[in-house]
Amino acid sequence: MIDHSARTPSAPWTNWAGNITFGARQLHTPASVAELQAVVAAGTAVRALGTGHSFSTVADTHGDLISVAGLPRSVKIDPKARTATVSAGLRFGELTGTLHRTGLALHNLGSLPHISLAGACATGTHGSGIGNRSLAGAVRALELVTADGTSVTLERGDTDFPGAVVSLGALGVVTRLTLDLVPAFEVQQWVYEGLPQEQLLGSFDDVMSEAYSVSLFTAWRGGPIDQVWLKQRVGDEGPRSAPSRWLGATLADRPRHPVPGMPAGHTTQQQGVPGPWHARLPHFRLEFTPSNGDELQSEYFVARRDAVAAYEALDRIRERIAPLLQIGEIRTVAADDLWLSPAQGMDAVAFHFTWGPDSAAVTPVLGAIEEALAPFGARPHWGKVFTTAPGTLRDLYRHYADFERLTTRLDPTGTFRNDFLEQHFPRTGNGLGTAPTG
Ligand SMILES: Cc1cc2nc3c(=O)[nH]c(=O)nc-3n(C[C@H](O)[C@H](O)[C@H](O)COP(=O)(O)OP(=O)(O)OC[C@H]3O[C@@H](n4cnc5c(N)ncnc54)[C@H](O)[C@@H]3O)c2cc1C
Repeated sequence: MIDHSARTPSAPWTNWAGNITFGARQLHTPASVAELQAVVAAGTAVRALGTGHSFSTVADTHGDLISVAGLPRSVKIDPKARTATVSAGLRFGELTGTLHRTGLALHNLGSLPHISLAGACATGTHGSGIGNRSLAGAVRALELVTADGTSVTLERGDTDFPGAVVSLGALGVVTRLTLDLVPAFEVQQWVYEGLPQEQLLGSFDDVMSEAYSVSLFTAWRGGPIDQVWLKQRVGDEGPRSAPSRWLGATLADRPRHPVPGMPAGHTTQQQGVPGPWHARLPHFRLEFTPSNGDELQSEYFVARRDAVAAYEALDRIRERIAPLLQIGEIRTVAADDLWLSPAQGMDAVAFHFTWGPDSAAVTPVLGAIEEALAPFGARPHWGKVFTTAPGTLRDLYRHYADFERLTTRLDPTGTFRNDFLEQHFPRTGNGLGTAPTG
């Protein structure tokens, strides 16, 4: 019999932004893996929930939500192998300080340290940097509880592994992750304002290669790029100074928030003050909520070689984008081999949009963006809002059918199915367990 004592009693639950009210009947927060296994095995419709930061319905269910945040917290660091085996429900901000104190680091972080490791990996969450893969790219092994309640370990090199990291929660509940680490490093962050468009478009790769992680912020109002955030690794030669002018842009004279009018005190330290990687790579500090959640987000990935043409296509419809936008961000993500990663098989550029919270107004503009980016095979961020047709998604992902087969094999009874999967990965009775392509 399942012990429901740990479940949170107050439905309905919403995601962070409040644009999704989960259809779940219950939210379980099991205190042990055994309890989690029992909940999953007994459930007919079950879905793992991370910290609820996705804007899409990817985490929703009409059955039971399960959070792994209540499982015993463990961080086991192997300094020799440079790995950490950690509880999957930890938020990045709860792990990074511990890693840093042992002289180790993650290769990159997203804009927010508040999200869970498992939730971030499941949707292909990423930061920026020409040479930096998505956060899921650091996963070396994972343990997950599958539909029948058994715990399975998959490691890099296993046939199913590339399908199981960016999993959309479709294969089971991840309880533990082993992550690749790198030696700890320091970062200096600078903000430049007013980068002329012709400088960006004339040398996109050079601009995006200027630092370890580069983010462009634009409100798509035409003219110069509003802000360029450069996150530069401190090398052996020590901290550097930054020129007051760079490619026609001007060094900001005080800290900036990417969204005009928002308090810069919520952002990670700028103006070149050196600091540990985890205090500079996210845009926002752990101790502050970046905004009140009054927003929607969308993001589309295209091959980096198409960055300029894709930028120009978006610029042509900027009158539709700008009025609804809080801010847009452009980042780069290095290629990986994870089947459903938006950067699978291609060095990517990601065009991100933070909208006001008006779904009805935003939805048709998403259609216009998707049409503008269609020639470049734009892949939407799984955790953000999009309207890309399921048939299109099939063509965008080389391993789409492999993923379908994997979910059918690991979850034959559809325990982890939800409306999001029904829509984007409709079950068509394809064969079980066929070997992946390529
Ligand atoms: C303010 C803000 C800033 C953001 N910044 C970025 C950014 O910089 N870069 C970026 O790429 N994205 C960004 N995002 C999007 C966000 O990173 C993703 O939506 C991410 O998936 C959220 O993680 P979560 O823990 O909240 O997962 P949830 O939203 O709770 O869940 C997402 C998916 O993960 C699955 N999942 C969660 N836990 C588990 C588990 N234990 N086992 C199996 N599956 C699981 C769920 O079933 C679901 O399918 C941002 C979102 C917000 C709100």
